[in-house]
Amino acid sequence: MDRPVEHFWDLRLKRVQEALEKNNFTVHIARDREDAKNLVLEKILPTLQVKSVSWGGSLTFTATGLYDALKDRSDLEVLDTYEKGLAFEDMLERRRRSLLVDLFFAGTNAVTEDGHLVNLDMYGNRVAAITFGPRHVVLLVGRNKVVPDLESAMMRIKDYAAPANAMRLDKKTPCYHTGACEECSSPERICNHWTITEKSFPKGRIHVVLIKEDLGL
Ligand code: SF4
Repeated sequence: MDRPVEHFWDLRLKRVQEALEKNNFTVHIARDREDAKNLVLEKILPTLQVKSVSWGGSLTFTATGLYDALKDRSDLEVLDTYEKGLAFEDMLERRRRSLLVDLFFAGTNAVTEDGHLVNLDMYGNRVAAITFGPRHVVLLVGRNKVVPDLESAMMRIKDYAAPANAMRLDKKTPCYHTGACEECSSPERICNHWTITEKSFPKGRIHVVLIKEDLGL
C-alpha cells in the first residue's frame, strides 16, 4: 500500500468524525494546518456570520495561522486574550468578557474515539467557553489528540500535556522540573478544572476541525 500512515489517519479520523457527529458536534476534516485555516476563513466564518471573536490558549490555533489572520480584523470585534504586554487584571477581564462573544476558538486536550472532548484548565476560561457562553465554538484539533477512551484521555493530559504545558508556560510546579505530575499544591498549578463534553448542546454549536497533522500538546 502507498502512504499507509495517511491511509491509517484517513480511516481513524473518519471514525472519530462519525462518533462526534453522533454526539451533535459539527465536524470538519482538514489535510493540514493551512487547510484548517482556509476552512475556517472561507467556510465556517462566512456561514456563521459572527460579529465578535475571541480565543483561549491553544498552540494549534496559533499554528494554523488563525491568530495572525484574525487578531487585526477590522470587520470584527476582536477580544485578543493573548495580546503581549497586557496587565494581569486586563487579561482576566478580557477572558471574562470573551465568554460572551459570537465565536470562540480553542483546542482540546483530547478527543476520544467515541466522540467526547476532555479538557483540563488552569483558569477555566477555555472550558467555560466550550461549555456555555459564546454562540459558537470552533476547536482546532491535531490528530495526536485522538485517544481510545476517557481513561487514556485523562492519562494523556496528566502524564504528558499538563507537564509539557507547565514547562512551556514557565510555571513553578514540580512537573516543570521532573516531567511527571506530582498532584501538586503549587500556587502556579495549572490543573484546576476538568471538563468532559459528551455532546454539543445545542446541536451543532461546537465545531471540531480534525487536522491530519500532529499539532499542539
Ligand atoms: S497537578 Fe501540578 S505537578 Fe501535576 S501536572 Fe498539574 S501542575 Fe504539574
